[in-house]
Amino acid sequence: MTIPMVDLQGQFQSLRSEIEEGFRQVFASSQFIQGPNVRALEAEIADYCGVRHAIAVASGTDALHLALLAAGIGAGDEVITTPFTFIATAEAIGYVGAQPVFVDIDPQTFNIDVDQIEKAITPRTRAILPVHLFGQPADMGALATLCTRYGLQLIEDCAQSFGADFQGKKTGAWGDLGCFSFFPSKNLGCYGDGGMVVTDNAERAEAVRILANHGSRVRYHHSVLGYNSRLDELQAVILRIKLKHIDEYNRRRRANARLYTAGLQGRGVTPPVEDGKGTHVFHQYTVLVDDRDRLMQRLDAAGIASAIYYPIPLHWQEVYRDKLADLVLPQAEQAARRVLSLPIYPELTAAQIERICQVLIAANENQAADENYGNQ
Ligand SMILES: *Cc1c(COP(=O)(O)O)cnc(C)c1O
Repeated sequence: MTIPMVDLQGQFQSLRSEIEEGFRQVFASSQFIQGPNVRALEAEIADYCGVRHAIAVASGTDALHLALLAAGIGAGDEVITTPFTFIATAEAIGYVGAQPVFVDIDPQTFNIDVDQIEKAITPRTRAILPVHLFGQPADMGALATLCTRYGLQLIEDCAQSFGADFQGKKTGAWGDLGCFSFFPSKNLGCYGDGGMVVTDNAERAEAVRILANHGSRVRYHHSVLGYNSRLDELQAVILRIKLKHIDEYNRRRRANARLYTAGLQGRGVTPPVEDGKGTHVFHQYTVLVDDRDRLMQRLDAAGIASAIYYPIPLHWQEVYRDKLADLVLPQAEQAARRVLSLPIYPELTAAQIERICQVLIAANENQAADENYGNQ
């Protein structure tokens, strides 16, 4: 039995006829860019998230980049974010000429530690950019309060949290702007690159729309230096079909997480902690382990994929480390050493989860037995 990290084929097969019919209509219309499916998807996602505006863009990275530009953040500004995320979060801050300021994480949730943000705020700080890592919302209540108190903007990286809510309000709807990715492996993924910015602010929405379309509102009139960052109709067709199932997909991810946690609790593996303030949509199911390399080898030998998100915190990446040589963020550094993500896709079966738990537990127990043997 081989168990991959994600199974995009299984989901495609279940949606195949609907997707092919949608494609057929796009091919017949020959309207591939900025057509009716993109417009409909924007309206459906705005409605789903409970916000007024949604603007489709070419990727999650672009969503972050254009959101920061629309928020007026630029050279000389500082943006507070987490060091324990995918590089794109910090890249986008750099693209607009601003500095990422990394604040350590809460070791329980892996999200930015809100209690440590205040001491990182300077006169140059313009925004906080939390990531809802692995699908668990950051503490948006506390973050919103901080932003109001210090006059900062709140920009959410929701690349891993489509459908998650914090205290009943969707991620993306808490901040001034929310940024989604539709990379194929995300909870809501298309079959290529794609992204979306959501906001309640009409001015910001218009700014993102113009920036994403060559700085143009009226064709061949260019008011600002813009970009080519658009979602195409074929991707919009796929996303509209999958959007109808996203709550069910996320529900299955949560059910899978419950099975894992019941199977692993107290067996030498630390399961992820849900803080209970919202709905965790388990983009990843990430445990803490010791002796990670050996456990990964055992899983691999049993035909089970696993992955490390993320092995190197951002302040240790070559691109930042010269400037940030003195920065010590113990929780992010420790998490990077100990995290291990297991397959959690919606189509995973209970039997597969049981098997993964067995292999992990046996590997841990063998390790303990090996050590006892060595002590004799
Ligand atoms: C995937 C991801 C992104 C970037 O999205 P792309 O669509 O790949 O550009 C940004 N932030 C986080 C946390 C991600 O996981």
